Amino acid sequence: MATAQRTGIKGGSLVIAIIMAVFALFKYYSSSQYNPILETQQQVALSVDQEIALGLQSAPQMAQQHGGLYPDQKAQQYIKQVGQKIVNASAAKTSEYAFDFHLLADPQVVNAFALPGGQVFITLALFNQLDNENQLAGILGHEIAHVIARHSAQRIAKQQLAEGLSGAAVLATYDPNNPATTQTAQIANVIANLVTMKYGREDELQSDELGVRFMSEAGYDPNALISVMEILKAAAGGANRQPEFFSTHPNPENRIENIKAAIAKYHK
Ligand SMILES: [Zn+2]
Repeated sequence: MATAQRTGIKGGSLVIAIIMAVFALFKYYSSSQYNPILETQQQVALSVDQEIALGLQSAPQMAQQHGGLYPDQKAQQYIKQVGQKIVNASAAKTSEYAFDFHLLADPQVVNAFALPGGQVFITLALFNQLDNENQLAGILGHEIAHVIARHSAQRIAKQQLAEGLSGAAVLATYDPNNPATTQTAQIANVIANLVTMKYGREDELQSDELGVRFMSEAGYDPNALISVMEILKAAAGGANRQPEFFSTHPNPENRIENIKAAIAKYHK
C-alpha cells in the first residue's frame, strides 16, 4: 500500500513536469516577433513600448551607480551628437526606438552599456582612453546594436524558458521519500546559467558585427573598433582597475577576428 502510494505521487509529479515543460516551450516559441533590421524572427519577452519604458525607468538608477551624469555639457552634447549621427545615417533610423546617449561621471570603471529601448551610456574612464571620434562611434555603434537586436528582451525570454524547463526537470525527478533532491535542483540551476551565459557571448559578437555595419553606414571607419579592443585589453591589465566590461563582454582578443570579418563585409 505504502509502495503504491509512493509510485502514485511520483507519476503525478511527472505529468505536471511535462505540462510545465510544454507550457514553457509554448510560451517561448509563441513570443516570436520579426526584426526588420536583422531580417529574422526572434523570441522576445517584451514589446517595443515595454522596452522603452523599462529603459527610461531604470536609466537614473544605472547612472547613479556610475557617479551620475558628467557635468560638462559640451562633452554630453558631443556624445549625443556622435550617437545620433550613427542612428540617423544607418539602418537604426528605421527602428521605433528613441535613442539617447549619456556620459557618466565614473572616472574609474571602464564601461559602456545600453538599456533596452535606446538609453546608451559610456563612462568617463572609458571616454578618456579614446583617441578619436571613430573609436567613440565604434563603442556607441556596438551599444546601439544591443538595442536594435533586442538582446535584453531576448535574454528575458530565454531566462523564462530556462527557468520553466529546469523547474520541470526538478519536479520530474522529485521523490518525496528521497531527500537527495537538492542535487537535482543544483544541476538544473547550472544548466539554466550555462544557457544564459552562452547567449550573452553570442549577443556581444552579434553587436560587434551590427555595430560595424551601423558605423560604416554612417561614414565612420570601423577599423577603430579594433583599436578599442586593444584599449580594453590594456585596461584589463591594470591590477587595481579591473573593468566591469569584462564580466559581460568576452575576451577582446576573441572579438577582433569577428570584427575583421564584419569590416570586410560592411566597410566598402
Ligand atoms: Zn556589448
